[in-house]
Amino acid sequence: MTFEYAPALESTAVVKIKPEYGLFINGKFVPAKGGKTFTTINPATEETLTKVAFASSSDVDKAVAAARAAYSKVWSKMPAAERGKYLFRIARILQERAREFAVLETMDNGKPIRETRDIDIPLAASHFFYHAGWADKLEHAGMGSSPKPHGVVGQVIPWNFPLLMLSWKIAPALATGNTVVLKPAETTPLTALLFAEVCQQADLPPGVVNIITGDGSTGSAIVNHPDIDKIAFTGSTAVGKGIARAIAGTKKAATLELGGKGANIIYEDAPLDETVEGIISGIFFNQGHVCCAGSRLLVQENIHDEVIEKLKRRISMIRIGNPLDKNTDLGAINSSAQLARINELANSGDLEGAERWSPACELPTKGFWYPPTIFTGVTQAHRIAQEEIFGPVLSVLTFRTPQEAIEKANNTPFGLSAGIWTDKGSRILWTAKHLKAGVIWANTFNKFDPASPFGGYKESGWGREGGRHGLAAYLKGNH
Ligand code: NAD
Ligand code: MN
Repeated sequence: MTFEYAPALESTAVVKIKPEYGLFINGKFVPAKGGKTFTTINPATEETLTKVAFASSSDVDKAVAAARAAYSKVWSKMPAAERGKYLFRIARILQERAREFAVLETMDNGKPIRETRDIDIPLAASHFFYHAGWADKLEHAGMGSSPKPHGVVGQVIPWNFPLLMLSWKIAPALATGNTVVLKPAETTPLTALLFAEVCQQADLPPGVVNIITGDGSTGSAIVNHPDIDKIAFTGSTAVGKGIARAIAGTKKAATLELGGKGANIIYEDAPLDETVEGIISGIFFNQGHVCCAGSRLLVQENIHDEVIEKLKRRISMIRIGNPLDKNTDLGAINSSAQLARINELANSGDLEGAERWSPACELPTKGFWYPPTIFTGVTQAHRIAQEEIFGPVLSVLTFRTPQEAIEKANNTPFGLSAGIWTDKGSRILWTAKHLKAGVIWANTFNKFDPASPFGGYKESGWGREGGRHGLAAYLKGNH
């Protein structure tokens, strides 16, 4: 006898999607010059949700001019405690409208409602609360007695955590006295546009936050704009490298949060049932569309078979399907382009001789889907051990000694995250000391907090976001 879950659909009635969205410039929604638009879809159904304005470089000019005027006439003159009040107000509105944001994020992105409801939206609000508290205490943050903002900040964000990445960018920028021009990713613009409405609701002075929608060409116009003082980017390493080249030799400051290929290291003395849960959240959280995902499992050789057996049993229980169902664990892949990238890399795993396993599962017929997948027998030379797949695909490697674990973990161009699973505190400290990774979790994975700095080494990027380090990145001289 099998016990099936009854459907538990979250209602979409709370969300009112307009037939068309303009650019949010100087506190108002305006059409793009020339009236160009593009559509955004629900990747779980392929239904068109709405159309949004496509900003060209002349729209970027307009947004930057609005941000500059707001900076020099209003925001830089306002007492810091007043700035903080706006941030508190925004944070409270995000909490009040949390369900609306969660449903809209799930519809536009494809991620499960359980995650938008319990993780994305609450964390976004907490970033505003955290930074609201800093606004009037910056002179006590250890960055000089009178720290100064950069001025106008250009921010470009990806599609994997749309509202959360917006909050990582906008909250510290405003708390430190900067004004912003932000571009969400082309497949997930809707929660950023709803956030623009929140700015209006909070009576934020016009021009302090400008949200413009478009693709890479719009992002590039922001990056190359001469009147922008700092760039904050999260996305692919390839685009990040291009941005670094574009701003070299200019006075622009930059933070870049790029890709990763996080090692999740399992020692023989790890508590295996808890570890398996950590492996699952490390790679299947958010469909694996996570820059700090634990996408490389390094298992001590003598427990490999036992770990894989438990892992397969646990993966077989993952529920894949309608992201609006409260029981869904694994939602839709964000776009057909991302699905094609996942397929291409996973197929290289087959061709290079790794062994693929997925549970028997039915995928919906409409939309973009990929089953939870693990590859065993992966070696360091395989592309799936080196390149970011950014999907629900885990590469499993083994090691014999702690030294070998470190060598393998550090042997990639990235250095963003890592996990360590062991019973011994001393082994955690020794391992963490030798890992080249910006964020290291011990006996847990994918935990985030606005007070904790986040960022990488090597090709994973420059600078830190969150905590005191993240504030410094928005203040002059602390880059
Ligand atoms: P991307 O880097 O192309 O897009 C990220 C953002 O940058 C989007 O808003 C996009 O419009 C903008 N952009 C694109 N080209 C630009 C340019 N030349 N100048 C300025 N902005 C530009 O990422 P993608 O194509 O959506 O995803 C490709 C791969 O990147 C993924 O498979 C994944 O490996 C990686 N990725 C990483 C992250 C992360 O959080 N680190 C996020 C998304 C994607
Ligand atoms: Mn979409």
